Amino acid sequence: MRLIITVTKSAINKVLEPNNKYLLISEKPAWEVLKKWYLIDSEFAYFNFRSACNYTAHPNEQKFKDWISDQQFSLKELFPTVNKEKICLLDLSVSSTWIGHRSQFNNLDLFQFKINELQKKHPEEIIAGGYLEPRPLYTSTAYDKIGNYGRESRTVHLGVDFWLPPYTPTHALFEGEVVTAVNDVGDKEYGGLIILKHRADGFEFYTLYGHNTAESALRHTVGDIIKKGEKIVELANYPENGNWAPHLHFQIMLTMLDYKNDFPGVAYASQVDVWKSFCLDPNLLFKIDNFVTPKRTSAEELINYRKNHLGKSLSLQYKKPIKVVRGDGPYLMDELGRKYLDTVNNVAHVGHEHPSVVKAAQNQVAVLNTNTRYLHENINLLTQEILSTLPSELNVVHFVNSGSEANELAIRMVKAVTNEKDIIVSEVGYHGSSNTCVDISSYKFDGSGGNGAPEHTHVFSLPDSFRGKYRGKSTGKQYAKEVEKRIDTIHQKGRNVGALIIEPIISCGGQIELPKGFLQDAYKLIRRAGGLCISDEVQVGCGRLGKTFWGFQLHDVIPDIITIGKPLGNGHPLAAVVCTKEVAEKFANGMEYFSTFGGNPVSCAIGLEVLRTVRRENLQKNALLVGNFLKEELEKLQIEFPIIGEVRGVGLFLGIELVDSEMNPLADQTSYIANRMKEHGILMSTDGPDHNVLKIKPPMIFSKEHAKELIQYLRKILNEDFIKHCLS
Ligand code: PMP
Repeated sequence: MRLIITVTKSAINKVLEPNNKYLLISEKPAWEVLKKWYLIDSEFAYFNFRSACNYTAHPNEQKFKDWISDQQFSLKELFPTVNKEKICLLDLSVSSTWIGHRSQFNNLDLFQFKINELQKKHPEEIIAGGYLEPRPLYTSTAYDKIGNYGRESRTVHLGVDFWLPPYTPTHALFEGEVVTAVNDVGDKEYGGLIILKHRADGFEFYTLYGHNTAESALRHTVGDIIKKGEKIVELANYPENGNWAPHLHFQIMLTMLDYKNDFPGVAYASQVDVWKSFCLDPNLLFKIDNFVTPKRTSAEELINYRKNHLGKSLSLQYKKPIKVVRGDGPYLMDELGRKYLDTVNNVAHVGHEHPSVVKAAQNQVAVLNTNTRYLHENINLLTQEILSTLPSELNVVHFVNSGSEANELAIRMVKAVTNEKDIIVSEVGYHGSSNTCVDISSYKFDGSGGNGAPEHTHVFSLPDSFRGKYRGKSTGKQYAKEVEKRIDTIHQKGRNVGALIIEPIISCGGQIELPKGFLQDAYKLIRRAGGLCISDEVQVGCGRLGKTFWGFQLHDVIPDIITIGKPLGNGHPLAAVVCTKEVAEKFANGMEYFSTFGGNPVSCAIGLEVLRTVRRENLQKNALLVGNFLKEELEKLQIEFPIIGEVRGVGLFLGIELVDSEMNPLADQTSYIANRMKEHGILMSTDGPDHNVLKIKPPMIFSKEHAKELIQYLRKILNEDFIKHCLS
């Protein structure tokens, strides 16, 4: 009513005071909302209001349940030709591993083959399930809407499905009048659809039968009466049935809302509490014990278990953590099928569950997995593939299982080659979680729970030209001098330098780009002192930076050792150390190097497919183009929102630092943005010594469209009061 007063007053004011724009300020948004509301079915609105007042959303929900409670139907009555009474529950939920990858469940022949195999195993049962099951199957954008909190998909199934052979007839359990008899053509529609209206004690209800032959549905006309026990329809095969594996979609409704020739079979997860009040559980008719959608473990239960039985120092992302159950390209999905655009995960390098990587893993794991003491093609092929991306100086590979293990091995190499154990590292650098790695990670030993640098680790200032010790455009020499000072310290202690280890862009430091010339100078100094140079490529490697395949190549240097981790296995634990021949020779001093899992045929098949996918899909170029576009858009935001102090990074490895006008870090605002973005379906992470940097390092298939979506919501949230008012 307020909105109607607003638009009415505006209409009057336009006549009375046409020049007074202020009086019209609310008109446009008021109309926008009214138009949206106008589209909402009035009955549906009524059910929502009832639900908000803690009544059953539909006034007849309880009446139906009471009426049906002493009635019992058999599946033999619904499908007399099938003659089975039990069901084999089929889980098609978002979390189901049975349905496999999207490329698998969208392959109808494969899906049907799996149904047939399942049926062979359970010959006496009808395969069925699905009431209130959130499913990932509805991937067409017709199932999506953009709401106040970003993208929402209709995922929750409102009926049950019976997976039966085509042409199986369905018979009527109650006498009913045909209210809908159509051929609902189109992909992922119902095909032949019948809806019957039934009368119970003082109320009406409906039953819906979808995915039938057009002929059997169109045999009826609206108004026809179908007697109890009479045949209604026959199931169709695909594509006639709307392009699904053959099954009957059976649904009970207490209302048709405003629908005539159609009725939704799936609902938005956020609206399910209302829908389930008038789309009732079909098992109320059959009362079969196992015909219930499995209960999902709640986030609270998972958290409580973790607290009691998993390491206390395991942390969780976001104030309200997400339970993710499925990955798909640039998206992660929660149990309810909510899609989150992932701008954080540089591990899922070529996209979450990339089909060809999944296939490579599945194929190899089914045939052989063993250690490197046998000959196998895969380890050689992956080695060749890695070496083809590197300068010829780096030509020997050792395979391990994690970034930590890679850096651990790199430090062992340093000790074997130089006989020294003094390592120079950057402030806030992170190189892994093992003993030695923590000892060379200022992020850890200078962070909470840490005890400062160990005797043999020498930290130089974070080479941050924005808020670091030296600021401005040409700080390379100044920071190189800091490295030199650490070399001097080592010499003063009567020892020599083992190595310098640093990332080409310091990730945990807050996506710090090394100043121009710094790495060249630092490498020269280290080498002059007899040390080795290690480039930790765990975060930035494999084409992510766009301009170059490896991070060190940005700086025109060639390290003695590089360590590769995260992206190489696209989520599978696979990492590698690549070094020069000279380092490799000296390392092989007689002590065998063996890692039980490192370099196994499965891991290598995966790594090989990851690198081939980067090449085949031109992902390095994509990182360059999309990364440049995104950086430019972020720079435009920086002009609009002074809270953004700096936008930095290369390719799809970017960072946004939030500061106030005195360059003080704004950690609360950074965390606020990450959490609000998550609420809008976009995952971001925060980092940096002052927790004031938003990091962007998405799967490499991230497109311009995804970048635009990210920018759109960032702009929205930067405009929110908590952010806008922090600088005033
Ligand atoms: N180096 C860098 C730069 C990293 O970011 C990480 C992990 N965050 C590691 C090494 C350790 O890798 P992992 O967790 O696979 O042991």
